[in-house]
Amino acid sequence: MKTLLLHENEPNTAEIAAQLLREGKLVALPTETVYGLGADGLNEEAVKNIFLAKGRPQDNPLIIHIAKAEDMVLWCRDIPEAAWLLAERFWPGPLTMVLPVKETVPKRTTANLDTVAVRCPQTKITREIIRLAGRPIAAPSANLSGKPSTTSAGHVLHDYGMDGPLAAIVDAGPCRVGVESTIVDLTGERPRLLRPGGIGPEELKAVLGELEVDKAVTAQISADSVVRAPGMKYKHYAPSAQVIVVEGTREAAAGYIRAHFKENDAVLCFEEELPLYEGYAPTAYGRENDPETLSAGLFAALRKLDRGDIATIYARCPMGGGVAYAVQNRLRKAAGFVCVNAE
Ligand code: AMP
Ligand code: MG
Repeated sequence: MKTLLLHENEPNTAEIAAQLLREGKLVALPTETVYGLGADGLNEEAVKNIFLAKGRPQDNPLIIHIAKAEDMVLWCRDIPEAAWLLAERFWPGPLTMVLPVKETVPKRTTANLDTVAVRCPQTKITREIIRLAGRPIAAPSANLSGKPSTTSAGHVLHDYGMDGPLAAIVDAGPCRVGVESTIVDLTGERPRLLRPGGIGPEELKAVLGELEVDKAVTAQISADSVVRAPGMKYKHYAPSAQVIVVEGTREAAAGYIRAHFKENDAVLCFEEELPLYEGYAPTAYGRENDPETLSAGLFAALRKLDRGDIATIYARCPMGGGVAYAVQNRLRKAAGFVCVNAE
């Protein structure tokens, strides 16, 4: 189908996008985390088309997006006080909560789970589109399955073209956060972090008092293991190159990388480090002393380096909490948790 390119600032963008969603079409939507591949979360056929368009395994559940926190009651049951506290503090924003699901949400959206992941995104045009559509919008990241997430309209266009499965792409510029939302599961005995994102674990703990970190965050989950959500066992992004995370001081890391670097390898580093890699054609993805630039730039840099001819990507990865913790998680996952300490 011919894909409409809509801009957030054009009149009628929200009305047009909402109408397409109501018709069961796929619309790529901007959010502060990444661009999502949106469809009517109540329309099984439309949701099925998300999985088909992306090439996403059917047992990997979707996040539903709502226009305001109060709409949680329409799709979730037994909502704990903690969910309202988190919504009050972080919504609209990059936080997804897993809650018990109501019968009102189709099985296809939740991949048959008795829980649903729900989020109220910050990007205004997208909340307006959801409000006008009058239904929850199911949306995974808009990238083709296995590719780095889409953080600009250009990335979405690159993955699907102008004559593919998308009825429209809504362009609101590059994503501010740049990594997918923080996911917290509120259905167990204690709140559990399933995926780090724009809201750091410390911020969640400040509201919740306690937070367990799921083992999928810190280590590779084997394909046959039993996990809280089937989707957690999938490698989210596996570049054709081997990624090696190199930890340690700037100087030690540069020493290690320069000693091991071969033709066809690549360096992914902080802007501050560029002078250390002269002659190695380094790619910087942001500034180490400003982790928000790292999260905003990570996926665009990985997309640039996701070429068949690169053998090894030596990646520098920030330490610390907040959004740096999410950047660290995505890079370690891309590396299959292969990390070396250069010191
Ligand atoms: P993405 O694939 O980028 O859209 O991310 C969606 C993430 O949300 C996946 O990792 C899913 O496994 C996770 N998710 C969605 N629904 C649930 C749920 N009910 N319980 C736990 N995780 C979920
Ligand atoms: Mg994704």
